[in-house]
Amino acid sequence: MREKLQRFMMGRYGLDQFGKFLTWGALAILIVAMFTKLTLLEIPAVLMLVYGYFRMFSKNTYKRYNENMKFMGIFNKFKWFFDQKKRNMQTRKTHHIYACPKCRQKIKIPKGKGRIMVRCPKCGQEFEKNS
Ligand SMILES: [Zn+2]
Repeated sequence: MREKLQRFMMGRYGLDQFGKFLTWGALAILIVAMFTKLTLLEIPAVLMLVYGYFRMFSKNTYKRYNENMKFMGIFNKFKWFFDQKKRNMQTRKTHHIYACPKCRQKIKIPKGKGRIMVRCPKCGQEFEKNS
């Protein structure tokens, strides 16, 4: 049985990040559909599953590999965007972000230092701010 399966999977593409995304995404949508009774959601979920399995058993590994590369490109852009948001949130806890009144350059100032003079690193403009 195991040998048969191995022979069957030979030369086939298998599961990559895009495939995992498709199958787990489909599962997540199905769960949401179950709880919200939005049966229409089952259609994209089933399509995603079918496409995911089609890719897994596909013998056109070159094409599947390129699909995965495209997916990873988009995925990384999203990831970068959310990481950036997270970093900004963390910075806001300890720093104020002010814009220079002259050139609008954003300047990070640590909180809790009272009234301080800020010097813009870009244009040299000085201004007073509460930190
Ligand atoms: Zn400036």
